[in-house]
Amino acid sequence: MGALTAFARSRWGVRLRSARAIERRRDRGIRRLLDDRLPRAPRYAHGYTALAEIPVVDKRAVLDDFAGCNVLGIDLAQALDAARAAERSRDFGALLPGGVTVGLSSGTSGSPGVFLVDSGERAEWAGTVLGRLLDRRSLRQLVQPWRPPVRIAFCLRANSTLYETVASRRLDFAFVDLVAAFAEVRDDVARAAPDVLVAPASILAELARATRAGELAIAPRTVVSVAEVLDPRDSELIEAAWGVRPRRVYQATEGLLAIDCAHGRLHLNEPGVVVEREWLDEERRRFTPIVTDLERRTQLVVRYRLDDVLRVAEREERCPCGDPAALIEQVEGRADEVVTLEGADGGSVRVFPDTVRRAMALALAEAGAGAGQGADWRMHWSPGLVEVRLQAEGSCRVSLELGVRAAFDELAATVGATAPEVRFAPWAEPSPGDKLVRIRRADAPIASRTGGGSS
Ligand SMILES: [Zn+2]
Repeated sequence: MGALTAFARSRWGVRLRSARAIERRRDRGIRRLLDDRLPRAPRYAHGYTALAEIPVVDKRAVLDDFAGCNVLGIDLAQALDAARAAERSRDFGALLPGGVTVGLSSGTSGSPGVFLVDSGERAEWAGTVLGRLLDRRSLRQLVQPWRPPVRIAFCLRANSTLYETVASRRLDFAFVDLVAAFAEVRDDVARAAPDVLVAPASILAELARATRAGELAIAPRTVVSVAEVLDPRDSELIEAAWGVRPRRVYQATEGLLAIDCAHGRLHLNEPGVVVEREWLDEERRRFTPIVTDLERRTQLVVRYRLDDVLRVAEREERCPCGDPAALIEQVEGRADEVVTLEGADGGSVRVFPDTVRRAMALALAEAGAGAGQGADWRMHWSPGLVEVRLQAEGSCRVSLELGVRAAFDELAATVGATAPEVRFAPWAEPSPGDKLVRIRRADAPIASRTGGGSS
C-alpha cells in the first residue's frame, strides 16, 4: 500500500465503515501481524497465537532489545549512529539498508525513544494524514493538473524524509527546519506561502502571533497541529489569525494514534492501531494507552505502553462525522506531567495535568487582572515541592507569584493533599524546536529551602 491508497482509504473509506467493518479489518490486521510479521522479529518469533499472550513493553524494554523488535536486525548503536549523522548533516535521506530512516522522539525525561520506518511506511503515513485532513479546495486543486500544485509547509524538528515521500507534481513540499531562530522559521514559512501548514502547536501559536502582528502574511486553508498537545487557548489564537480551526494529529513516534475529524473531534486511528486501555481512575475516563500498530512492518510496535494519558468523553457517543472510531476528549500530555502531591492522609495524590493547567490559567488571569493572561509558564515538580517559572516582569510578577501560591494551596485542598512548597525560578526562553511541555517532573529532586525562596 502506498501513499495514494492510504490517501484514498482515509479520505473516502470512512463512509463505508461501521463499527463491525472496523472490527473485521482490525482482526485481519492482527492475524497478519501474528502470522507474517511477528515471526520475522527475533523478540516475537515464539509462535504467538493471540495478541493477549504477548508481554507489554515500554520504551526501556524496546531500547534494551532493539534488534529483537525490528525485522532487519538493526541494533541500537547502529540506529543511533545513523540518527546522529542525519541530525548533524540535516540530511534525512535513507541512511540504513532498505530505505530505512531513524527517528528520535524527545522524551520528557530520560533517554529518547528510537524508531525505524521504511519508505513505504512513510508514504502510507503521509497519505493517511493528508487524506483525512486536506480541505476540499486543496483536494480539487490536487486533481486538476492545469492548476498549480498544493503547497504544503512542514515545520518540524527533524526528518523531512517522512514528507518528501509524497512529493509529486501536484504537491509542493517545503520543509522548514525548526532548529533555527524564530525569525528564520517565520521567513521560511512566508516564502513557502503554504496552502497547508503543518507544525507543532507552539510554533503554530508563534506564527499566528506573527500574523496578527502584521509580520507574516500567509493564508493557509488547512492548519495541522502535530507533535504537541494543542492548548485550547493556542487553538483560538490560530483560528483568530487565519480563520481556520487547527486540526490535530496525535502522533507518537510509535505511530499515528489519533486524528481530528471535520467536526474537530479526535478519533483513535482505528483500525490502523489497536489501543488497549489501562484505566487510571475509577470513573474510567483516563487511561494509559497500550498500542499495537498494525501498519508497521520494519520496527514492530506490539503492546507498547505509552507515557501519555488519554481522556475519553463522559458518555460514549457517536460523532456526527459518522466515523465509528473511538473519540478521545483530550490528550493530557506525558505521564510525567501528572503531578504527585503528598496526601493529607500520608499517601500520595495524583493531579492530572489539565487540572494543573486550569489552576495556573485561572491564577494568572485573576492575579494579573489581565496582565497575566498571556503570561506563559513552566513547572518542575518533585515530591512536596513545585518550582514555577513565569514569563512576567516587574511589578505584576509579585502579584502573579502570590496568585500561583494561592492556586496551589487551593488545588491541594481540593484534592485532599498537603499544599506543596512553591518556589519560583527565572524564566528561560524555550528554543523554537523544543517540545511544549509545561509540567515536568524534575529529573533530580529540587533541593528544598525552608521559607521557599523566590527569585
Ligand atoms: Zn468525528
